[in-house]
Amino acid sequence: MERQQTLETKLSILADAAKYDASCASSGSGSTRKGSRIGSTEGMGICHSYTPDGRCISLLKILLTNYCIYDCQYCVNRVTSDTPRARFTVEEIVNLTLDFYKRNYIEGLFLSSGIIQNSDYTMEQLTRVAKTLRTEHRFGGYIHLKTIPGAADELMTEAGLWADRLSVNIELPTEMDLQQLAPEKNKPEIITAMTGIKDKIDENKCERKARKRPPKFAPAGQSTQMIVGATPTPDTEILRTASDLYTGQRLRRVYYSAYSPIPHADAQLPGKSPPLIREHRLYQADWLLRFYGFNVDEIAVREDRNLDLEIDPKLAWALQQRDYFPVDVNTASREQLLRIPGIGARSVQRILSIRRHKRLRTDDLKKLRVAWKRARSFVITEDYNPAVANLDHSDLRTIVTPKKKQLSLFDTFDTALRGEL
Ligand code: SF4
Repeated sequence: MERQQTLETKLSILADAAKYDASCASSGSGSTRKGSRIGSTEGMGICHSYTPDGRCISLLKILLTNYCIYDCQYCVNRVTSDTPRARFTVEEIVNLTLDFYKRNYIEGLFLSSGIIQNSDYTMEQLTRVAKTLRTEHRFGGYIHLKTIPGAADELMTEAGLWADRLSVNIELPTEMDLQQLAPEKNKPEIITAMTGIKDKIDENKCERKARKRPPKFAPAGQSTQMIVGATPTPDTEILRTASDLYTGQRLRRVYYSAYSPIPHADAQLPGKSPPLIREHRLYQADWLLRFYGFNVDEIAVREDRNLDLEIDPKLAWALQQRDYFPVDVNTASREQLLRIPGIGARSVQRILSIRRHKRLRTDDLKKLRVAWKRARSFVITEDYNPAVANLDHSDLRTIVTPKKKQLSLFDTFDTALRGEL
C-alpha cells in the first residue's frame, strides 16, 4: 500500500499531518553554515518562520511518517485513528528538501515524525535525513529536528550536530494531563530528554571556548510545544510549566498550540477548539515572563486561574495595581517602565536612551509609537499628568480596553514574534 503511493500523495498526507505542530519558528538560528553551498537562511523566502533579526524564512514542514505506535488521544496520527497513512524514505525527504530549495520554495526543513518501531529507530531515521543533507549535499539551510524522548544519548548527540534546533514536545502542561490523554508518555522522560540537550549545548559552549572550531551542537537551541485546551488545566498551570522550562531547561521558545478537534475523538476531549484569543493571550503572558520581569503569580490573577481574554495580561495587572501608577517616564527605573501598559520593551530602551539628553514629553512618547490611549492613564511625562488631565477614571477598564476586532492567526503569530505590550 505504502509503496504504491506517489511522492505527491505522501507529501500531501505528511505535510498536512505536520500542520498541528506549532513549534517551528527558527528564532535563534545563525546564518548559512560555513563552507555550505546552498540553503542560506539569508535569502528571500515565503513567510513561515523568522531568523533572529526578524527576517521571514520558509521551511518545508513535514513528518517522516504519520504511522505511530502511540495512542495520544489528542492526535490525529494516533495508532487507533483511521487517518490515511504515508511514510517517506530518508532519500525522499533529502531530495524534496533540495528540490524545493532549488526552486526557491523553502530555505530550510522542519522534520518531525510519528513513532515507528521504537524511539531509537525513529530518531535514527530523522538524524539520517539531517546528516545526509549536511554531509552529502552540503546543505547549509536551517534544520529543525523534532527529537524523540527515550532515544539513545548518542542519537541525540548526533542529531544536534546536524540540526540547528532540536525540540522535544512537552505536549501537555501537567503530568496528570499526560496520564489522561497520552499514557505512553511521561513528563520525567520528556524532561530528561530536554536536560540532555541542554547539557550538551552547555558542554559544546565550554568546548568552543577551550579549543578552536569544534562542531556546533544545536546552535539555535531547543524549543517545545504545549497543547492548550485539550484538558481543563488553567492558564496558570500552563504558564508555570512554561516558566519552569525557561528557567530549568533554558528553552528558546515555548509554543502554545490550541487543541484542534479530531475525527472520532475520545469523549473526554472537548468538542471544539479554545478561542484563538486564548493562545494569543498566552503568547503575551509568555513575553511578560521572559522580557518584562513578571512572574506567573502576577500574571494569572483571576479566580479561575485563567487569563483575561478581553484585555492583555499586562493591562490586566496594571488595572489591579492602581497604587503602582502613574509612573514618571523621566525618572522611573527600567523595571517600572516595563510595567506600563502600552509601552513595549523596545520603547523602554529608547526612553532610557533619550532621557539622557532631554526630558520626555507626551509627543516624544507618541513619536516612539507607544500605545498612547492605553498608556495615558498610567504615565507622567514632562507636560502630562493623568491626575490633572481631564480623564474619567471612574471606569478605567472600559476606557483602556481596546475595541474588539477579529483576531487572525497572523495576530497570534505576530504577538509571538514581537511581544510589544
Ligand atoms: S507520539 Fe506523536 S504522532 Fe504519535 S500519537 Fe502521540 S502525538 Fe501523535
